[in-house]
Amino acid sequence: MMRIAMVSEHASPLATLGGEDAGGQNVHVAALSRALARRGHQVRVYTRRDDPTLPRTVAFAPRVDVVHVTAGPEEQIPKDDLLPHMAALAEGIADDWRSWPPDVAHGHFWMSGIATLDAAAMIASPPAVLQTFHALGVVKRRHQGPDDTSPREREWLEPDVGRRADRVVATCSDEAFELKKLGVPRDRISVIPCGVDLHHFQPEGEREAPRRRHRVVSVGRLVPRKGVGTVIEAVSLLAAEGVDVELVVVGGAAPSGGTDPELERLAALAGRFGVTDRVELRGQVSQSELPPVYRSADVVVCAPWYEPFGIVPLEAMASGRPVVASSVGGLIDTVVHGGTGVHVPPRDAAAVAAAIRELLEDPERAERLGAAGRRRVASRYSWDRVAADTERAYRSTLSRPRVRSTAGSSAEGVLR
Ligand code: UDP
Repeated sequence: MMRIAMVSEHASPLATLGGEDAGGQNVHVAALSRALARRGHQVRVYTRRDDPTLPRTVAFAPRVDVVHVTAGPEEQIPKDDLLPHMAALAEGIADDWRSWPPDVAHGHFWMSGIATLDAAAMIASPPAVLQTFHALGVVKRRHQGPDDTSPREREWLEPDVGRRADRVVATCSDEAFELKKLGVPRDRISVIPCGVDLHHFQPEGEREAPRRRHRVVSVGRLVPRKGVGTVIEAVSLLAAEGVDVELVVVGGAAPSGGTDPELERLAALAGRFGVTDRVELRGQVSQSELPPVYRSADVVVCAPWYEPFGIVPLEAMASGRPVVASSVGGLIDTVVHGGTGVHVPPRDAAAVAAAIRELLEDPERAERLGAAGRRRVASRYSWDRVAADTERAYRSTLSRPRVRSTAGSSAEGVLR
């Protein structure tokens, strides 16, 4: 049995999903923690207190506690403004570790990595430190250019976390390649994907009734890089070709009706493309209400500009649906072109439209790809398998001499 500390500064397992800063990382930390606890380990998830009414500790699942650490104002703050509070987070975590020293500490996102390494440097018997980035600043900057709101310090602090951690867990092969370019030695990188809840997302069960002949579904946090604009344009191209198709877009800061600038932008875009009556911007939908939506899709489309991993395609495949996916990041590993879906280049509405059309015109093939997707996730992407692989990475890290010098801290001078 190990004591495992997960550090996830902005992404709490208790958050509701679909807003700008709550998505895959929250799901990952929650599901991985639960699955490790099922293997007998004790897990504490440390996250920043963003609401004064939150109790210090919440029992999240058997052997999993969420610990709220005060670091900065007790209110929601965009994740790109959190860096100045990482020193306080590290101190709060180290305080807890003095009475509950973990064997392993696993940072999620680059800023949590800073807090984790710094907390480890503050206690007498530091844990082995592993890091999962979930997203890399260099990739974000490459695709978003001046629209990237990450703090400038990310450019050097993020690779520094990668080099100082005892092990970095990449979620896909593309990320491992990027990490090597950042100077993380290959023998300290493990590739372990994210997983999916195979019981929750299933082909059989309740299914929403589409309003039109064909339905395309998109699910995700509503941020421009998810490429929902491309899918709306693709739907307009299909409608112009006479295909009777509708698009349901899940995600946004609030259930439909709430305000979210990206929802407003997408509504205006649908208007410009003349498909307002074909595009339903549903807003945030809870995990418990999602399965009937996935099942109602003829095709699930994931058309991001880039994607560090992408749990949504796994949920679609678990639901037995074929996936049209940009051939980027994690989607290169998870969606098999011609096997479980169709790959398209990013930001290419004509290619998305052609891929959707190809699947709508051959429902038997679409069915086959969906069934193959279910088999693929069942054999490779259960959280139990992800947890077993993660446990192996923890054990092999514990069995090796530490590479990290605990002297000195990346936060010093920068964060205080
Ligand atoms: N999600 C949700 N409700 C929403 C929007 C998204 O439950 O309204 C969930 C979605 O089902 C998935 C996660 O948020 O589990 C998104 O994860 P993904 O890895 O695809 O994207 P990320 O958020 O990491 O960019």
